[in-house]
Amino acid sequence: MHLKPILAATLLFAAPVLVRSQESPSSAKRGIKVGIRADTISSPRREIFATWRAYVNNEPERFASSPYWISGDQKRWPIFDLAAAWIYFGAAGYPRPEATLVSIDPVIPGHEGAADTFIVRALYTTTDSAGNSLPVALTRTFAVRERDRWVLASPIPRLTAAWTRVRRGRITFIFPPTHVFNERRAERSGRFVDSLSRAFGIITPPPINFYVADRPEDLAKFVGVDMAVPQTSFGRAVPGNNMILSGLPVYGEWYPHELTHLVLARWLAERDVFGTMDEGMAHWLGGATGRPFPVLMAELSHELATRPLLTLDSLLGPGHRSDSLANRAAAGLLAFANERGGVNAVKAVLTPRKGKHGPDHLSSAADALGLHGSLLDAGWRAFVRLAAQK
Ligand SMILES: [Zn+2]
Repeated sequence: MHLKPILAATLLFAAPVLVRSQESPSSAKRGIKVGIRADTISSPRREIFATWRAYVNNEPERFASSPYWISGDQKRWPIFDLAAAWIYFGAAGYPRPEATLVSIDPVIPGHEGAADTFIVRALYTTTDSAGNSLPVALTRTFAVRERDRWVLASPIPRLTAAWTRVRRGRITFIFPPTHVFNERRAERSGRFVDSLSRAFGIITPPPINFYVADRPEDLAKFVGVDMAVPQTSFGRAVPGNNMILSGLPVYGEWYPHELTHLVLARWLAERDVFGTMDEGMAHWLGGATGRPFPVLMAELSHELATRPLLTLDSLLGPGHRSDSLANRAAAGLLAFANERGGVNAVKAVLTPRKGKHGPDHLSSAADALGLHGSLLDAGWRAFVRLAAQK
């Protein structure tokens, strides 16, 4: 899907867990608003608010270790604050979202005196070019006691503690009691991880935690996002955490697109692969937005037929920007490579030459397939036309 390149790359690579948090001058100036009747004065709300404000002012989208977040979460997951991905990468092209505190309440309503767990609700908004305020995410973060102070905590381990866990191959499926587990899809995912790992010489594939929700809103909720930008909650791979989040019933336990991202994340990162080629692998092996590979090729074939200026070079040459058409073009190129030269040709295409304007996959493809000049473009077009008819 569209948001994937940003997210997959960000969640894996923008996780500088060794970088210490520090207040930057720009973030210190940033205004945090306090909503109507949000109590930030009475204890312990005053202390919880101070913790939350310091955390939000420290650029959470860097996923750096934080003194304001419970240490257990940070040890378990480099990407410990998953809601930050929804907040800061959910509205690409708009100004960085700003926070308004909505409320700080005990987890059990009315249970004031002895409460040791609170919920911090916040609304994140951005602005359009006319200055109108637009909602990005309404979030829910836990506040708990660690030693003698308040720290923030992710809803995930707390809300999923009682969920069912079923292991198939390298994958542990985790789902709520309302979900009907699909054995066939789960087995298929387990086998897929094994065979993809074998093909790429990945000796020990990561043990994967695969969370299954029945609706996108449910997926967002257990991450701590009660309102999200549409289409941001269908599903995600979080390679840094060895985690798959599945929120569309059409996928459920069988989600080859996101599994491809996760299994190959390290292999691709080591080769400095262009993000579009990462998407190309996932589109080829897993389809996208619920549509299988042949349908994606039919869409690409239609575009190529109606827009004669589109070429392999204009779509995938070094420095070209990622979009859904480029993702389809990359999927077609990788499948074409596989047909002509098997997995070794695919690996060669995924190992780019260093070009002046970024990784150059087309030169690698031309060499690997023995198709130079216009022959690579012509062969790829013919392949896409045929694949569209399957
Ligand atoms: Zn993707």
